[in-house]
Amino acid sequence: MLARSIFLTGCSRGLGLEMVKQIHPFTETLIATCRNPETASELRELAEEHSHIKILPVDVLNHETFGDVAEEVSSIVGEQGLNLLINNAGISPRSTRINFVTPEAMAETFAVNTTSPLMLTKALLPLLKAGASSDVDEDSDFCIKNAAIVNISSVLGSISNNMGDRSGGLYPYRCSKAALNMVTRSLSSDLNPFNITVISIHPGWVRTDMGGPNAPLSSQESIESLISTLKELTFDKSGLFFNQNGEEIPW
Ligand code: NDP
Repeated sequence: MLARSIFLTGCSRGLGLEMVKQIHPFTETLIATCRNPETASELRELAEEHSHIKILPVDVLNHETFGDVAEEVSSIVGEQGLNLLINNAGISPRSTRINFVTPEAMAETFAVNTTSPLMLTKALLPLLKAGASSDVDEDSDFCIKNAAIVNISSVLGSISNNMGDRSGGLYPYRCSKAALNMVTRSLSSDLNPFNITVISIHPGWVRTDMGGPNAPLSSQESIESLISTLKELTFDKSGLFFNQNGEEIPW
């Protein structure tokens, strides 16, 4: 088992949907969120087959709804709180080379990829603290016995890694993921006293709508590795950046 309760964003397609498919056998409650449940037919079918998958409508741009989202999550998980938050929803605008990048593309990408994971964490923090301190039997087979926040980032947000190829461009996406990595670092300090582990993970380059058809990994391969890495997650890894195989990535 991975964690008693899990909250996941962006589950309509791509890596989020694949996570729902592969993670649900390893948890008692999976809160799978997406902005339009009515059009997320595969997700709805999964929830119809497995009653521990609960679908909640969440548009991560609607920060003002996060209080209501937290109340709904609280009514699902109860006093035991929330054990794992995976901030997965993300966007990567096209046409982002220097001559085409716009302030609007920068702002929207930051809102989805950076601000939302932080604001969602803030809204769910009381539940994560409850999850971190609620009694999980030391002998239970949950790998995450306290609580953890996993920010799905990208190696394209690594400043050090971009030294070699100097590929440039992708300003909104690269900057938003570099900033998300700093969110991870700051949260890991702030939440250390509460036994909440916070990491960034790059899922690999994956064949999804975002990754495109030439990516080397399938969603199944990426998420299989990512789940194995999460099963090895320990508190001493908080504040670090990994790839899906659990290898550390330089900031
Ligand atoms: P996709 O484009 O395939 O899926 C993106 C998901 O995010 C969709 O479920 C989409 O929902 C959701 N989303 C976008 N905006 C919002 C919003 N405002 N509110 C709620 N949900 C939203 O991308 P991937 O699955 O490939 O990417 C998932 C994560 O992995 C992202 O954070 C991405 O940056 C990261 N990543 C992906 C890589 C890859 O190669 N694929 C590489 C490195 C990182 P909807 O269907 O409603 O649009």
